[in-house]
Amino acid sequence: MSGSTARVQAIHQITNRPMVPPKTPAKLEEIWAENVFNLQKMQASLPKAVFKSIKKTIVTGKKLDPSIADAVANAMRDWAIAKGALYYAHVFYPMTNLTAEKHDGFISIQGDGTVISEFSGKLLVQGEPDGSSFPNGGIRGTFEARGYTAWDVTSPAYIMETDNGATLCIPTVFVSWTGEALDKKVPLLRSIAAMDKAANKVLKLLGNEDVAQVNSSCGAEQEYFLVDANFASLRPDLLLAGRTLFGKAPAKGQEFDDHYFGAIPERVQVFMQDVEETLYKLGIPAKTRHNEVAPGQFEIAPFFEAANVASDHQQLIMTVLKHTAKKHGFVCLLHEKPFAGINGSGKHVNWSVGNATQGNLLDPGDSPHENAQFLVFCGAVIRGVHKYGPLMRAAIATASNDHRLGANEAPPAIMSVYLGTQLEDVFEQIKSGSVSDSKHKGVMDLGLNVVPPLSKDAGDRNRTSPFAFTGNRFEFRAVGSNQSVSGPLIVLNTMLADSLDWVGNRLETEIGNGTDLNSAIITVLKEVMEEHGAVVFGGDGYSEEWHKMAVDERGLANLRTTADALPVLKEEYIEDLFKKTDVLTPVELESRFEVYAEQYILSIEVEAKLVIDMAKTMIYPAAVEYLSQLSSTIASLSDLGVDFEKDSAKSIAEMTTAMMAATTKLSSALEKHDFDSPEDKLQYCAKTLRPLMDDVRKYADELEGSIANSFWPLPTYQEMLFIK
Ligand code: ADP
Ligand code: MG
Repeated sequence: MSGSTARVQAIHQITNRPMVPPKTPAKLEEIWAENVFNLQKMQASLPKAVFKSIKKTIVTGKKLDPSIADAVANAMRDWAIAKGALYYAHVFYPMTNLTAEKHDGFISIQGDGTVISEFSGKLLVQGEPDGSSFPNGGIRGTFEARGYTAWDVTSPAYIMETDNGATLCIPTVFVSWTGEALDKKVPLLRSIAAMDKAANKVLKLLGNEDVAQVNSSCGAEQEYFLVDANFASLRPDLLLAGRTLFGKAPAKGQEFDDHYFGAIPERVQVFMQDVEETLYKLGIPAKTRHNEVAPGQFEIAPFFEAANVASDHQQLIMTVLKHTAKKHGFVCLLHEKPFAGINGSGKHVNWSVGNATQGNLLDPGDSPHENAQFLVFCGAVIRGVHKYGPLMRAAIATASNDHRLGANEAPPAIMSVYLGTQLEDVFEQIKSGSVSDSKHKGVMDLGLNVVPPLSKDAGDRNRTSPFAFTGNRFEFRAVGSNQSVSGPLIVLNTMLADSLDWVGNRLETEIGNGTDLNSAIITVLKEVMEEHGAVVFGGDGYSEEWHKMAVDERGLANLRTTADALPVLKEEYIEDLFKKTDVLTPVELESRFEVYAEQYILSIEVEAKLVIDMAKTMIYPAAVEYLSQLSSTIASLSDLGVDFEKDSAKSIAEMTTAMMAATTKLSSALEKHDFDSPEDKLQYCAKTLRPLMDDVRKYADELEGSIANSFWPLPTYQEMLFIK
């Protein structure tokens, strides 16, 4: 049987699959948050005093009163059991970007052999998953492997329904026996607290008496690809690495931009509705959906929420996308670059800070030049990005995101801030010492009677900036599609905490010297612009000139690969930042470097092994089979006295030989194990292994374009991207 038979069967199955009939969409109001144990459900089921106490913790961040745990656990259990749950799970977020959960039954055996459903406050509040196999970056050895999960009251418990039944899920933090954070939630909560503290001080200095707790918000746009499962199951690279390691570019790709915002294919729309229904039941406010630039690529974006909840919800969105895709015969690819030469996927993290008394602190209003509060907060962000840009880069550094950043389709690896014409102008005025006006929003008259005049924003958008101001928030556009948003949020909150702290101290000094508040603000912001204004850039971030100018003239870092970016976590000024804000201890920070470095190395090693396997066991045999047929045809024709062309056979033989030579080279490169430091090994992966993988691919892709289609064992780009 030729390798392509399975491919042909896959196409047959896909094109003949019965359409899943679209469900009548459920009424939003009826299903909204039906699977969430939220404040309303607590109010309905908890004793009044208990509800009041827990609400205070959730809404205002007051310390949790442990004595209410039993009552909450009881109510939660009754609610969950009524919804069919037999198990509960502490859900946590290890450093690997994944979501982890340990399931336990409510079952409790009594002395007389009967069973009851039990769930005490103790079980709600604390768990001890073994979890010793999660990477911990040296925080604990397996011989001292205790790790604890602890209930995060601020992120609501929910029921996860799968084909295997319903489970009560409780978001938790994950810490070691020695109290160190082993997850992404602990530092996120700490970063919010640090930012709140610094923001509070600044807001008071600005003259506000009543200042509520300041929180950060996040709305994350998620891009993803859908590929039919029949194709994916024939591609070991998609199954194990989440991206294609081989594949010739199709004759038609995304050149026409005909997919972008086009009509959503019917089968995909049915899938999306199913995803949204599940998300609504989980209280996740899915809001936007559309086709993305590449064929087979889509986007989903929820409405923004408080950062901690948004982060848990974002993890759930990724889980729900993957599960639901399976039900619809798709595989959902969250990898940043599943197809070479085709646009990759990112996750735009929209981020702001605000509170109940002063509102969104990054909202400039109509005349930003008069909005001191906004200018101070925005200035603090500018300072933060300039000072800690390399840290922002490190927070989005993964093997998979390296394929995207700087590839002229996604923001460059150089961190800069886009402010838009209006704000750039205001900050330029500040730099010159005084600020007197703001360029205003306009009205666009299209000269069409039937179309109302459109209001025009004061600034345009810039899609080439990694970190852009978009009206009342910043959009961190360089984040990877596969990543947890917690890492980037931790960095943004922490650097803002540091900057606000600095601004607060400077303002205090100025005011102490007798300067009035307004002049003090201008003085401090002028200083920010003089020292850190180099990070503000409104031009084309994809251009060659910017890459040169950013590094040579502005002194910004261009950390091209993860191997270049991760060592930033070891720098002293980064250790100081996390230490003084109490977000990560030096040990916790060090462990993060180790875990991320290990993940990077592992991903590249796994891919390298896959390249070798696929080249040897799939592509080589196909080439040999075709060659053998071709050469015997040539020989037979020659027996008949026909001089048939031999160049194709010769060139295929040469390509095959070259591919196998490259494979051998890659195999021996993988054997190297003696490295002076983890940094050396990172560089080896980036500079040696990865290019060697590309060499093998180059010959394999040429072969794909040279041998008979009916011999090719792997579903092609054309098939995977266009057949649905
Ligand atoms: P885009 O035009 O960038 O594709 P979308 O409408 O797809 O925009 O997504 C914008 C995201 O920004 C949404 O998730 C939205 O809720 C979020 N957002 C809006 N305001 C804020 C805010 N103040 N803080 C955080 N996120 C916000
Ligand atoms: Mg966006």
